Amino acid sequence: MGEAAHGHLLFFPYPLQGHINPMMQLSKRLSKKGLTVSLLIASNTHREPYTSDDYSITVHTIHDGFLPHEHPLTKIKDPLRFNVSTTRSLTDFISREKLTSNPPKALIYDPFMPFALDVAKELGLYVVAYSTQPWLASLVYHHINEGTYHVPDDKHENPTLASFPAFPLLSQNDLPSFAREKGSYPLLFELVVSQFSNLRRADLILCNTFDQLEPKVVKWMSDQWPVKNIGPMVPSKFLDNRLPEDKDYNLGDFKTEPDESVLRWLASKPARSVVYVAFGTLAALSENQMKETAMAIRQTGYSFLWSVRDSERSKLPSGFVEEALEKDYGLVAKWVPQLEVLSHDSVGCFVTHCGWNSTLEALCLGVPLVGMPQWTDQPTNAKFIEDVWKIGVRVKADDEGFASKEEIARCIVEVMEGEKGKEMRKNVEKLKVLAREAISEGGTSDKNINEFVALLT
Ligand code: UDP
Repeated sequence: MGEAAHGHLLFFPYPLQGHINPMMQLSKRLSKKGLTVSLLIASNTHREPYTSDDYSITVHTIHDGFLPHEHPLTKIKDPLRFNVSTTRSLTDFISREKLTSNPPKALIYDPFMPFALDVAKELGLYVVAYSTQPWLASLVYHHINEGTYHVPDDKHENPTLASFPAFPLLSQNDLPSFAREKGSYPLLFELVVSQFSNLRRADLILCNTFDQLEPKVVKWMSDQWPVKNIGPMVPSKFLDNRLPEDKDYNLGDFKTEPDESVLRWLASKPARSVVYVAFGTLAALSENQMKETAMAIRQTGYSFLWSVRDSERSKLPSGFVEEALEKDYGLVAKWVPQLEVLSHDSVGCFVTHCGWNSTLEALCLGVPLVGMPQWTDQPTNAKFIEDVWKIGVRVKADDEGFASKEEIARCIVEVMEGEKGKEMRKNVEKLKVLAREAISEGGTSDKNINEFVALLT
C-alpha cells in the first residue's frame, strides 16, 4: 500500500454526494502517497467506521443533529441546527483523535462549512479549504461576499451584462442562480457566500479543477488566495491509471442497476449513436420539462440512455419507458455507472444539468455536451461549456427557465452531427488531453498534490 504512512489527515466533505466524491478521490491519492486519512461524514444515521482494503482511509460518521427519520436534505433547510450540532461532533472527534498514537495534522474541509475551519484552528490543526465547486462560480460568490457585486432585488431590474475580472461578460442567465436575484434560495445563498466569511484564515485552498481549464480565473484567484488546483478528481482508471484499483468513486449512496445490463445495452449500439441523459443527484425538473425533454429525445430519433432517479420517474410521459424498451431505442435506468457510460464508444453526446462533476467527467472522457443547467453553479458552467471551452451547446430556455422540445432537439442534433458539433468534439478531445496531463506524473495538479504532501510531512 505505497510508502509507510507518515501523517494523519482528516477530510470533511459537505455531506452531499457531489461533494463527497471529489474528497474521496483526493483521499485515495494521498493515501497512496503514504498518508492515513479519516473521512468524516456528518449524518443523522450512525454507521460503524469503515476501512477500505485498498487504501489507508477510514470513513466515520459524526452526528449532524438530526433524527434518523428526518430527510437528509433537512440540514440545508435548518443550517443553524446542522452547524451547532456538527461543530460539537467535529470538536469531539478531533479532540479524541488528538489523544491517539497518530494524531491528525490537518483538516481538509469543504468551505460550505466554515465552522469547521474555526474548530480545527482552535484545536491547532493545519487547515485546508477544499472547494469541490469550480472557481468560475466561487469567484462570483467571492465578489458578493466582498460587496464588489450586488445581487439585484429583481432579476429584471439589471438586465445588463455582469463584468468580473478574468471572466467573459455574463448575462443574468449565466450567473449562478443565487446571484441573479436577491431572496431567491436565501439559505443556499448564505451557504455559498459564507464560504468566504473566514477563508482568509485557511492555510491553503485546494480546488477540484486544473490550471489549464480556467487559466484566467485561476490566475486572478491565485493573486488573492493561497490556491492549488488538484483536479480533475475523477477515478484514476478514467485518467492517468496510476491507481489501477481506482475504478469508481466507491462511496455510492444510490442503488445501482446491474451495471452490466446498461453496458451490454450500450455495447449493442453503433459508435457515437446514443444520447446519454442525466441530471445528477439533486436537480428535479418540472413535470412539463421532463415530458418536453422526453419528446425532444424521441423527436431526434437517436437511441438514448437516460438516468432517472425514482423520485423523477413518474414525470415521464406514460408508456415512454416501455415503448423505448420494446422497440429497443432507449433505456431508462435509475442510476448508471456514469463514468463507464461516458467512456463507452457508443455515446455520442451527454445531455446534462452541467453539475461540476458531470462537466469534469465529460471533458476527461472527451464527450461533447448539451447543457440544460438548472441552478447553483450550473448556468455559469454552461456559459463556459458553450462560449469559452466550446465543447457543447446550451439549450435556450424562456424567462421561466422552460426549454421547448424543438430547442432541445435542435441542440442534440447540432452536437451529434452538426458542423459545430465536430468542432466541439475536437475541442473536448483537446481538454481531455490537458486533463490527463494535469494529473499525470509531472503535471500541474500532480505537482500541486506533491507539494501539498510535502507541506504535511
Ligand atoms: N452519477 C452517476 N450515475 C448516474 C447519475 C449521476 O454516477 O446515474 C454521478 C456522476 O458521475 C457525478 C455525480 O453523480 O459524479 C453528479 O455530480 P454533479 O456534480 O454532476 O451533480 P450534482 O448531483 O451535485 O448536482
